[in-house]
Amino acid sequence: MLCDVTSSELAQAKILLNGVEPHGDYIAACCPFHLDESPSLLVNERRFKCLSTTCQKKGNIGFLLRALRGETETKIFRTKRRRRRNPAKPDIPFAEDLEGLEKLAMDAHVEMHRWGYDHYIGQRGLKDRINPQRLGWYEGWITIPVCNPKHDVVGMALRASPAVAEATGERFTTPAGTKPLLYVPDWTLWNAAEAVFVVFGWFDTLTLVDLGLPAATVQPGDLAPHGRVLEDVRKPIYLVPDSKATEHAHSITADLGWRGHVIELPWSTGLSDCNDYLMNGLGDLLRILLLEGMNGAA
Ligand SMILES: [Zn+2]
Repeated sequence: MLCDVTSSELAQAKILLNGVEPHGDYIAACCPFHLDESPSLLVNERRFKCLSTTCQKKGNIGFLLRALRGETETKIFRTKRRRRRNPAKPDIPFAEDLEGLEKLAMDAHVEMHRWGYDHYIGQRGLKDRINPQRLGWYEGWITIPVCNPKHDVVGMALRASPAVAEATGERFTTPAGTKPLLYVPDWTLWNAAEAVFVVFGWFDTLTLVDLGLPAATVQPGDLAPHGRVLEDVRKPIYLVPDSKATEHAHSITADLGWRGHVIELPWSTGLSDCNDYLMNGLGDLLRILLLEGMNGAA
């Protein structure tokens, strides 16, 4: 797998800088070392240089990245243009543009493989989900396509990588105009099951599917009217809230009637959602707890 360290540093700079204009093997961007309203910083995969006569800052790309992350003593300027031109959200199609979302999902999936951007997914213990669920990488975000049973893309969620989350303060986003959707990563598992799990996070859903369990989550997360999205699911639904969502889960079961149950997992330091279990090597334990919860609560 191709994993060019210097190219990925340039990709990082692209995410962290403002007003980025790509030019083949280098980029122009607003200089973070002075109040720069128009891009006067040039960056290639090794070095950077400010063309402004009053600034003229230059150096290697490693220093630029450290400065942008606040790891140096150098003062970083956040110009007006930075606020205006560095939106916290990535540039993605609207929710109704399903063709555009399908293309983005495909391109991002290829991008993840091409540049070896799978390390973050690997850290979360979810590397085996990249191909079946067509996970991808787009401008520092993990793309999670939402598909119907025929494998058509009907929506998308984007999860910020740690670098983007730090730079933008955002962790999740969905295309503008997204209506509440059920995200079922594996429809075969889901349709064959007599009872199903609904969890409260994207990585948590992928975690359960990785353990061979029928699982879904509701897009766009906690704000959605969960009960309505689950209306067509005519079998027992076991809600598995993370440590902060227990009350919310119980409030949803009221709408679900005979179908609704809640499984409360044991939480402790470092274990506050399903994905934490997997990341801590406790996937088998999680599987047992969920299956026991299903039997016990039935
Ligand atoms: Zn400058």
